[in-house]
Amino acid sequence: MEKVSTGIFGGSGFYKFGENISEVKIDTPYGITSSSIFIASVEGKRVAFLPRHGVDHIYPPHKINYRANLWAMKELGVKQLFGPCAAGSLQTQIKPGELVFCDQFIDRTNGRKDTFYDGPVTTHISCAEPYCPELRTIARKSAEDLKIPFHKTGTVVVINGPRFSSKAESKWFSESGFDIINMSQYPEVVLARELEICYMNISLITDYDCGLEHEAAPTDVKSIIEVFERNLSNLKLLLFSIIKNLPPDLPCSCKETLKASRFND
Ligand SMILES: [Zn+2]
Repeated sequence: MEKVSTGIFGGSGFYKFGENISEVKIDTPYGITSSSIFIASVEGKRVAFLPRHGVDHIYPPHKINYRANLWAMKELGVKQLFGPCAAGSLQTQIKPGELVFCDQFIDRTNGRKDTFYDGPVTTHISCAEPYCPELRTIARKSAEDLKIPFHKTGTVVVINGPRFSSKAESKWFSESGFDIINMSQYPEVVLARELEICYMNISLITDYDCGLEHEAAPTDVKSIIEVFERNLSNLKLLLFSIIKNLPPDLPCSCKETLKASRFND
């Protein structure tokens, strides 16, 4: 099997990436992945691309087999992983069309399988800094060079969905200081961390969430996807640039996440 060190999960409206694509299917102990994995050439490098909702968007966020998707990426040799997604803004200064590189999350999901470690080797990883700081630094430089509007940090609150928030919930999230809202960042980010893969989120802001007074129109899926598709070219340009600038190894501690995380070590 062809080994690749860079992976991308495509989000809503993002189902294809790169050229000279070869398709691979990977069996995992956790069941099937959202689709085949498409290994493509990007800036002279081979990259594994997997649309997290499936090619035909058949998996809603609460039904994605996150563990299978992450496990398959690890099997392919992926060390650096990008999880772009659509997100709503909870703060007026974060505008539709802009990008946010999240550095923190709040988990409001329920019932999702969010660990590879159900015993007997009891494992508690640190999640103080869940997102890779080095990938964010590279992305920041690329976004500045390309003059793409972005926010270098942000806290995403991840709701279970598939419904959107009530106004009261949304207002509560805004007033709590959370920046953006999404349904798929959790548990993707923590599962990547459990496998010691560097993970970076790139959130593309599609609308203001419904609790932002004066700003928010009622959320509807069609207009969200329209905004996403209109700005998808920026996201792809950014990914091309990041991939071009990626060193083979990063000086971060993501690859040592399991150190000191176990009772019996
Ligand atoms: Zn890292």
